[in-house]
Amino acid sequence: MFIDSHCHINFPELAADLSGVTKAMAANGVTHALCVSVNLETFPEILAITARFPNIFASAGVHPDDRSGEEPDVDRLIGLADHSKVVAIGETGLDYYRAEGDTEWQRQRFRTHIRAARQIGKPLIVHTRQAAEDTLKVMREESAAEIGGVMHCFTETAEVARQAMEMNFMISFSGIVTFKNATALKDIVCTVPLDCMLIETDSPYLAPVPYRGKTNQPAYVRFVAEEIARLKGISVESVAQATTANFFRLFKRAAAPNA
Ligand SMILES: [Zn+2]
Ligand SMILES: [Zn+2]
Repeated sequence: MFIDSHCHINFPELAADLSGVTKAMAANGVTHALCVSVNLETFPEILAITARFPNIFASAGVHPDDRSGEEPDVDRLIGLADHSKVVAIGETGLDYYRAEGDTEWQRQRFRTHIRAARQIGKPLIVHTRQAAEDTLKVMREESAAEIGGVMHCFTETAEVARQAMEMNFMISFSGIVTFKNATALKDIVCTVPLDCMLIETDSPYLAPVPYRGKTNQPAYVRFVAEEIARLKGISVESVAQATTANFFRLFKRAAAPNA
């Protein structure tokens, strides 16, 4: 019924009890989840999880914030993504929130991911924080529209959403939409068409109300869907149906050639 399009269940907070995590998913009607890669060093953990649980998918990529490990090149990313359970490239993008000094390395890394995605034919998972303008610019320069993807954990303006959707990117909303003070984001939910929308937890972070401040998990994506339904004045079932169909339209097609 619901799909969590972005989680990190390989992180220690959740990896310690994966059977509990997947049981809670089942109990809440969360049928699938996409476990998103943040560096090459922990990628094998994610693949192991997808081997254990048929309803968990993976992505391959290095987070724009991660400076600890191996810097990927296009061939390396393609090599990792050439697997039936790997349905996307990412998370990639730009994050100027913590970056100091010259951020050219981030833009280079982002370009590498877009090139890999276009070559292997799998969509992008894009993270952007305090860098919306440059993110869209790099996407445009690297023809990201050719492969499309998702702007994950969206917190930008309606105009950024519009430009991303024009480049074949879906908009994914996290538990932030349930926060009382997120009024601007609640307005944006109303402007994004249902057929361009995904839902996610970004767990273990960003637990939605009523679990705000606690450890998040894929089961809680239900609360994101419920808030979107409330904001749009439609049923939770229609949000579930649309976001599930969108997920498979975006990611399953990408997985098909190697399935
Ligand atoms: Zn992110
Ligand atoms: Zn993430």
